[in-house]
Amino acid sequence: MDMTQMKNEIVAIADAYKEEFEAVSSYIFENPELGCKEVKAQDALCSLLEKHGFDVKRGYGSLDTAFVAEYKSGKPGMTFAFMCEYDALPEIGHACGHNLIGTSGAGAGVVLKEIMEKYEIGGTLKVMGCPAEEILIGKVTMLEEGAFEGIDMALVMHPSDESMADDIAFACVNKVYTFKGKPAHTAACPWMGASAGSAVQIMMHAVDAMRVHFKDYSRVHGIVLDGGMAVNIIPERASCKFNLRALDADYLNDEIVKTIDRCAQGAALCAGVEVEIEQEGPLVKDVRNNRKLVAAVEKNMDFIGEHHIPRTLDQGIGSTDVGNVTHALPAAQFYIGLGGGIGTHTAQFATLSGGPEGKRALGAAVKVLAMTGLDMMTE
Ligand SMILES: [Zn+2]
Ligand SMILES: [Zn+2]
Repeated sequence: MDMTQMKNEIVAIADAYKEEFEAVSSYIFENPELGCKEVKAQDALCSLLEKHGFDVKRGYGSLDTAFVAEYKSGKPGMTFAFMCEYDALPEIGHACGHNLIGTSGAGAGVVLKEIMEKYEIGGTLKVMGCPAEEILIGKVTMLEEGAFEGIDMALVMHPSDESMADDIAFACVNKVYTFKGKPAHTAACPWMGASAGSAVQIMMHAVDAMRVHFKDYSRVHGIVLDGGMAVNIIPERASCKFNLRALDADYLNDEIVKTIDRCAQGAALCAGVEVEIEQEGPLVKDVRNNRKLVAAVEKNMDFIGEHHIPRTLDQGIGSTDVGNVTHALPAAQFYIGLGGGIGTHTAQFATLSGGPEGKRALGAAVKVLAMTGLDMMTE
């Protein structure tokens, strides 16, 4: 098989479907929907995949706005998946460019399927519709409910300022600490009370004392959710919430979470109150990109002449539920740049995602995704 010829054909097919893909991306951009409410985006992507011959199942497990699209060649081979995201942010819409993630995943599926048919490439190609990335639950739930079982490799593109073949992301978890004390009149008989508010204050100081011991690139941020009802009542109930992150999910769980929990328990003991500790949402794992996929993505960026830079720690790091997928199977996330030096989750980034910069990135992403899938399926 002549890989160069097949990759040139990927470019030609992607260019031929350019307007069709751009229309889907623009429709999702103009109809931003929050996580688990992405009915229009789901329909647009599923319709595109159905039109191009995929077997599409709308909804997966407990997620109504997920989907799984499949093309079975009928011949032996690996199962390769492209991942889609298509949820938006409140008020600023597609400021994370998920219109481009959804459409590039589905578009790459359409393009690679045609190459598989023409060159009789064995295996199964899947396009995974993963909702609710911004609230970090889509892929975690799909993994738990078995959607990724049988998939050998998975790949996703995220838009960014610059193109990068690799990714770094924090493991991340939110914890809520609720203290329960004993109310009393603050002037008449403060000795009768036990202050949940004091426990919150002590906990904040304890966390600040302990954070110096954490490894580099650990992140610990807390806010007071409830500090009490009135200044003349010893607070019976008070609570705070912490966002905890580290570059390694095991370190986050084994060291940081345990230390912060201990700060809460110590504060409760000190204030003579009770504490209830809750995890809010799933623990999102760090991204551990498969090296083979990263190498292939880099080579394919070079093939289409996409300028790219290395992913480094000083570029700013967030968290993504793609991390959990990369822990469960060989998988990777890479970036295609929109330029302009603008970060995600801003109104300016939304403008780029819906504009000509987004269209350019969409075309490049479809090609790099499809070529990388081809590399893996023909290896
Ligand atoms: Zn985002
Ligand atoms: Zn995003």
